[in-house]
Amino acid sequence: MRVYYDRDADVNLIKGKKTVIIGYGSQGFAHANNLKDSGAKEVAVALRPDSSSVAKAEAAGLTVMGIDEAARWGDVVMVLTPDELQGQMWRESLRDNLKEGVALAFAHGLNIHYRLIEPRPDLDVFMVAPKGPGHTVRSEYELGRGVPCLLAVAQNASGNATEIGLSYAAAIGGGRSGVIETTFREETETDLFGEQVVLCGGLTSLIKNAFETLVEAGYAPEMAYFECVHEVKLIVDLIYEGGIANMRYSISNTAEFGDYSRGPKVIDEGTRARMKGILDDIQSGRFASEWMSENAAGQPSFKAMRRREAEHPIEEVGEKLRAMMPWIGESRLVDKSKN
Ligand code: NAD
Ligand code: MG
Ligand code: MG
Repeated sequence: MRVYYDRDADVNLIKGKKTVIIGYGSQGFAHANNLKDSGAKEVAVALRPDSSSVAKAEAAGLTVMGIDEAARWGDVVMVLTPDELQGQMWRESLRDNLKEGVALAFAHGLNIHYRLIEPRPDLDVFMVAPKGPGHTVRSEYELGRGVPCLLAVAQNASGNATEIGLSYAAAIGGGRSGVIETTFREETETDLFGEQVVLCGGLTSLIKNAFETLVEAGYAPEMAYFECVHEVKLIVDLIYEGGIANMRYSISNTAEFGDYSRGPKVIDEGTRARMKGILDDIQSGRFASEWMSENAAGQPSFKAMRRREAEHPIEEVGEKLRAMMPWIGESRLVDKSKN
C-alpha cells in the first residue's frame, strides 16, 4: 500500500487551477473552506440558484456560481453532490460544458465504478476520498492536522492526474496524515460494505434490537437507552484510541468475560454468511442498481423507512436523556445552520 505525505505533493499545482466544488453539504463545506485556507485563490462553489446552501457558502467568503457556468469555468471540478444525483448532473450540466482536458473529481467511486457516469476520454478522472465525515475534515484541518484521504485515478488523459489529485488531497489537509493510493473499485466496494455491515446498518440494527429486547422484557426505556445506545460512544472511543484490546483492558473482568462468551452468540456463522451475501450484492452491482431504481421511482421505500425509523421510541427517549446531559450538545459535530 502506497502512502503519500505533504512532502510528496506539490500544493501549488492546485493553487494554479480554477477549482470548482459542486455541492456544499458535509464534504463540500470542508473541501471548499480547506482549499481556500490553503491559499487556493480561484475556488468556486457551484450550486443551484435556489439552494439553501448559497447563503452559507457566501457567508464563508466563497464565490458561488451556477453549475453549468462553473463547469465551463473550472480546471478541476469536484462533484460533492449526493451520489444518486450525480449521473443526471453529469448528463445535464457537465458532459457538454466541461472544457477540453480538465479534471473531473469525486469523493466516492460509486458512479464511475458502476459506470453510471462514463466520462469523456479527454478528461482526467480522480478520486480524493477523505476517510471521515466533512465536519471532521474541516475541524482537523483547522487544528493544523488532517483526515487521511484515499487517492485513485480512473482516467489519466493529461498524464498528470495523480499529481493533481495528490495536490488537491494535500490542500484539504490529507497530506498531513497520509494519502493512501487505491482504486475506484476497492474504495467503492469496501466503503459500501463497511457502511452497510458495520458502521451504519450493522450498528444501528444491533442497538435497536437490543433496546427493544430490554423494553419488551419490562425494563425502563431510559435504562435501555443508557446501556444500549449512550454507552456505545464510551466503548467506541476506547476502540478508536487503541483497538479492541485497549477497550478490553479498560472494562471490568465481568464485562470482558461476557464479551468473549456471549458476543459470538449474537454475531455467528449465519450472520457471517449474510455478510458475504451483502458483499456479493455490492460486487455484482445488485445493490447499486437497486439504489438507482429506488431513485428513479422517487425514493418511495427510502422515504418510508426514513420516516418510520425517525419515529422509533429510541429517538424520543434519547432526546429526553440528552437534555439531562448538556455537555453533549456543547461541542456539536453537526450544526445544521453551517454545514
Ligand atoms: P450531502 O448530502 O451532505 O451534500 C450534498 C450537497 O449537494 C447539498 O448540500 C447541496 O448543496 C448539493 N445538492 C444537492 N442536490 C443537488 C443538485 N441536484 N444539484 C446541485 N447540488 C445539489 O453530501 P455529502 O455527504 O457531502 O456527499 C458528497 C460526496 O462525498 C458523495 O459522493 C459521498 O459519497 C462523498 N463522501 C461523503 C462522506 C461523508 O462523510 N458525508 C465521506 C466521504 C465521501
Ligand atoms: Mg459511503
Ligand atoms: Mg454497564
